Amino acid sequence: STFKDLGLNEYLLQAITDLGFVNPSEVQEKAIPILLESETDLVALAQTGTGKTAAFGFPMLEKIDVNSRTTQGLILSPTRELCLQITNEMKQYGKYCKGLNVVAIYGGSSITDQAREVKRGAQIIVATPGRMKDMISRRLVDITKIQYSVLDEADEMLNMGFYEDITDILSHTPEDKSTWLFSATMPREVATIAKKFMDNPQEITV
Ligand code: AMP
Repeated sequence: STFKDLGLNEYLLQAITDLGFVNPSEVQEKAIPILLESETDLVALAQTGTGKTAAFGFPMLEKIDVNSRTTQGLILSPTRELCLQITNEMKQYGKYCKGLNVVAIYGGSSITDQAREVKRGAQIIVATPGRMKDMISRRLVDITKIQYSVLDEADEMLNMGFYEDITDILSHTPEDKSTWLFSATMPREVATIAKKFMDNPQEITV
């Protein structure tokens, strides 16, 4: 199939052409129609390098309202490197979405600068769990209107001991949001998180 067949809008299709992506990858082909067509929760078993960032990124960019400055999408990832990489990809994918502001929040860098960026109006925040929790407790971010949350590399985040932080962060988000969990493996801890935070998720494996 093509990206157009998956139902993506013209702004995304243009950015995809610019990036030189010709065909959707398997995880994109499976996840994008599900996420565009419904407000479901999703568990996706997918390794790094499979194109999973776009699999959750394209639908999130379609669904958020760029005319609003409210934070609507939250992507949690295990490391600073991954956080910056996802942020960079989301900015490229959303380059024609006028008014879009994607902000990265991660430890080891100025919290004041990150708070300032968030305050300008970030529809999407890409964060590592520790710094995110810190900013919530200092009331430097408001995630009470989140509609879409992504747990990327969930197995890695749990391996790194972020269970408590993730639980704390998600407790500040609305019950009725959608949660999309991506993981390379499905150990018991990931299944537990899925059970705790997700409502009848659809499942895909690549
Ligand atoms: P990810 O698994 O999301 O880290 O993506 C791995 C790499 O594949 C990134 O550099 C993406 O820019 C690239 N990529 C994602 N989707 C596609 C696609 N459909 N065609 C070609 N490259 C892609």
